[in-house]
Amino acid sequence: MHRRTKIVATIGPASQDEATLRGMIRAGMDVARIGLAHGTIDDGLERFRRVREVATDEGRRVGILVDLPGPKVRAASFGDDGVDLPAGHSLELRTGHDRSTASVIEVDYEGLLRDVQQGDRLTVGDGGAVLEISEKSTDKMLATVVHGGRLRGRPGIHVPSDRLQMATPTDQDFVALDAFVDAGVDMIAVSFVRSAHDIRRVGTEPHPRGPLLIAKIETRAAVENLPGIIEAAGAIMVARGDLGNECSLEDLPHLQKQIIRDCIAGGRPVITATQMLESMITSPAPTRAEASDVANAVFDGSSAVMLSGETAIGVDPVNVVRTMSRIARRADEEMDHEAWARQLAEFRMTDEEAEAASVTDAMTMATWRATKELGIEHVLCISGSGFTVRSIARFRPEAEILGFSVNESTVQQLTLSWGTTPILIEPRESNEAMVTEAVRHAKAEGMIRSGESVAVLAGSDSRSRSTNVLRIERVP
Ligand code: PGA
Ligand code: MN
Repeated sequence: MHRRTKIVATIGPASQDEATLRGMIRAGMDVARIGLAHGTIDDGLERFRRVREVATDEGRRVGILVDLPGPKVRAASFGDDGVDLPAGHSLELRTGHDRSTASVIEVDYEGLLRDVQQGDRLTVGDGGAVLEISEKSTDKMLATVVHGGRLRGRPGIHVPSDRLQMATPTDQDFVALDAFVDAGVDMIAVSFVRSAHDIRRVGTEPHPRGPLLIAKIETRAAVENLPGIIEAAGAIMVARGDLGNECSLEDLPHLQKQIIRDCIAGGRPVITATQMLESMITSPAPTRAEASDVANAVFDGSSAVMLSGETAIGVDPVNVVRTMSRIARRADEEMDHEAWARQLAEFRMTDEEAEAASVTDAMTMATWRATKELGIEHVLCISGSGFTVRSIARFRPEAEILGFSVNESTVQQLTLSWGTTPILIEPRESNEAMVTEAVRHAKAEGMIRSGESVAVLAGSDSRSRSTNVLRIERVP
């Protein structure tokens, strides 16, 4: 069986060279993530072009996701050697960009003194030091170190999101967005989303013409407004790094399950992210706990699992992708497809208002049943926007999904969809001819065999908004 869960890997200094990218693609990277939190837009565009080149050269479909950093507050540099902040220590916080020391932390956000209140706790660095604000005056705040830590470089400062008045996307995000939309990016992730409105503010054309918008769930408000955000976004990321700052750590595994469940019910791909194989930043093998985490994310229903620092700055990005691919494939084999689909039947999309959606819902349900009852191993799904492919993927069928589209950007966006091999086909005049072409193509590529029965799911003609024809065909 092919691996069904997709792998998103972040490109950074450790992985931007051609040889490493090639190795990562061969090892199973389905989507390359370009983060813009560090480095310039031009650096990002350079990485973007290189990924496209190497993927084309390798003859592989690799989606490209650009992650907009959003309102991330950072401290001025503590220097490369770093500074120790022991618990109990008192220090000052003020706005500035020059230098942070053990006694004064300069913060790059003008609104800090307005937004933060006495008694608030700020986390500095990823799970690093925690500061509690003890006093506030017009130009500075006094804080006490509650949990000590060592800080290097320019660590992020986590301000509770319900305090932060900075909007997402930020002005800088919009500049980056324009540049990458012009370059033809496949997916855009939006950080620190609080409501569906934040997603709508992005203002790109709806996918597949515009990029697939991925809402990162990493604020408490986003958890509360999840249904609206799922509706407005094309996909979701469970951004456990910042979400772990916003909620209690013991809630995190359960939030992960709940968010994934709601996404799948809505037919949206969902990425589980952050610290999945964290120890591999420096080590050649993951911890046992990390291996379990990846497998459990698969069992939870993740469409994709993500690598961040592991591939961006780690010692061996290719080895990390290979390791994640092995763990995910093994978990895919063990997944209880039957139980999953039975459960889905209870919570799948049943929006009575949206007739097109409910037709697709019923048709994909019928397709899943047909594959199960007839022992069909391949579903050929011909889709315009990719909606039907994502809808059939909700059922996590044992049958492999071949996702066809005549639309290049749809095909690129399907790289994120669970269990789907994205395939571009030439347009044909009639639905009949499209089906014939899809079957011919899949057979020529060795994806299906002569004599096997396949399910083909497609819209009956170009006017139908929903998918309304299911055929069971014997491959000639
Ligand atoms: P980040 O988002 O890596 O851009 O912070 C992911 C997360 O917060 O988990
Ligand atoms: Mn984050």
